[in-house]
Amino acid sequence: MKYNTVILGGGIAGLSTAYHLRHDDFLLLEKESDVGGICRTIKTDNGFYYDFTGHLLHLKTDYVKNLLIKLLKNNLRLIARNSCIYSNNTLTRYPFQANLYGLPVKIIEECITELIERKLSDFKNISADSHLSFYDWCLKTFGKGISKYFMIPYNEKLWQTNLNNLTTEWMGNYIPKPALSEVVYGAVTDNKKNIGYNATFYYPNKGGIQSLIDALKENIAHKNIKTNVKIISIDTLKKIIKTNIGEIIYENIVTTIPLPVFIKLIKNPAINVSNGSKKLKWTSVLNINIGIDRENISDKHWIYFPEKKFSFYRVGFYNNFSKSLCPNKTSSMYIEVSYKGKNINKEKIYKKTLSDLKAAKIIKSSDKVISKLILDIPYGYVIYDKERTPLLNTIQNYFRKLNIFNIGRYSKWNYSTMEDAILEGRDIVKCLR
Ligand SMILES: Cc1cc2nc3c(=O)[nH]c(=O)nc-3n(C[C@H](O)[C@H](O)[C@H](O)COP(=O)(O)OP(=O)(O)OC[C@H]3O[C@@H](n4cnc5c(N)ncnc54)[C@H](O)[C@@H]3O)c2cc1C
Repeated sequence: MKYNTVILGGGIAGLSTAYHLRHDDFLLLEKESDVGGICRTIKTDNGFYYDFTGHLLHLKTDYVKNLLIKLLKNNLRLIARNSCIYSNNTLTRYPFQANLYGLPVKIIEECITELIERKLSDFKNISADSHLSFYDWCLKTFGKGISKYFMIPYNEKLWQTNLNNLTTEWMGNYIPKPALSEVVYGAVTDNKKNIGYNATFYYPNKGGIQSLIDALKENIAHKNIKTNVKIISIDTLKKIIKTNIGEIIYENIVTTIPLPVFIKLIKNPAINVSNGSKKLKWTSVLNINIGIDRENISDKHWIYFPEKKFSFYRVGFYNNFSKSLCPNKTSSMYIEVSYKGKNINKEKIYKKTLSDLKAAKIIKSSDKVISKLILDIPYGYVIYDKERTPLLNTIQNYFRKLNIFNIGRYSKWNYSTMEDAILEGRDIVKCLR
């Protein structure tokens, strides 16, 4: 078999590439029995639909918005975010730094005083691209109070790393930076103004995020997609991919496979590439999905949990994205636990999760769990330490010279969204042509 372009991995980045290649000469190889990657939705026998944790479409471009409307037609809804932070036994609006209202007065006082002191000192609008660690950036931007009660504990839990080792390169617009006046206003009033990059989002009415995958797939010829494929090795000199379905000769590869996995498939890679790959760091996410025999268990879309005593960093409610994701008179939720390494006891984490959900008053002792699905996301968040950028430059430049193009969150090795993956698929096709 011989193709101009072979796409490795059929997540949203790989599918977007295939969609934009249209009738070109290409083949997409996926190791699982179906495409979608972590944008799949699993339907249980008793009628619950679980994404690999909530996958919401926060859009910044008209291109992707128009594409989604074209693909999903009426099966797309714009929703205004209703999300909160749970800390000190209190629910406050997101983002924490702009909505201290409701917290114990002592904490509000501490947060505001520290922020003012910070602003009176050498504050000069610190930019995200400064060489500060994320830890120092938080202290310089928000002062000690907001850092202590939210920024530091929440991010330590999510990234599972010392924040002194984390750079600010991943941040972009993800962390809202309200003006002092906005912080004060949000501390003395229940400010309902939604701020931040995710103030609204799109989500399918039916079928979970899988609907988007299905719509993309419908526009790609079936013969161009091969699932259940095991890639054995890639010979970059002869341009041959050895697989369980035979040898495939290629001109270009677009890979979306996690970078450390991909590098292991390469026959005799350059030594700085194979050594560099060993230095890449990431965290994994255990995604616990449960269905509860009570409706409307929360009116929120998702809640952040900064405190160490809770095992999870975020909990979301599928039924508030769409009622069709669970049967009548039930609710369903996703719980996200970040972890490092391979040896985790999923059942132990599950039990602690249930007791933590009760402690946070999200579920009651009388509630029954009527559905449970634990999904693992081995590559969840790429860690931006100081080594990452130079390593990536070396690795990705090496591949580019071999007509191998890295796209998608785990191949480009970045903190990116479904929208970014769609755009990267489109842009790589322009580059290939
Ligand atoms: C916890 C969490 C929550 C998120 N929430 C959101 C959100 O709300 N909104 C948003 O826009 N984004 C969200 N994202 C990001 C989003 O999931 C990603 O940007 C996007 O799914 C990446 O798609 P991808 O195709 O690059 O990767 P993947 O979905 O990982 O696809 C890679 C594909 O490659 C396949 N593959 C792997 N190894 C091989 C191999 N050896 N051979 C063949 N195939 C292989 C995999 O099976 C998979 O199908 C979230 C991510 C996480 C971890």
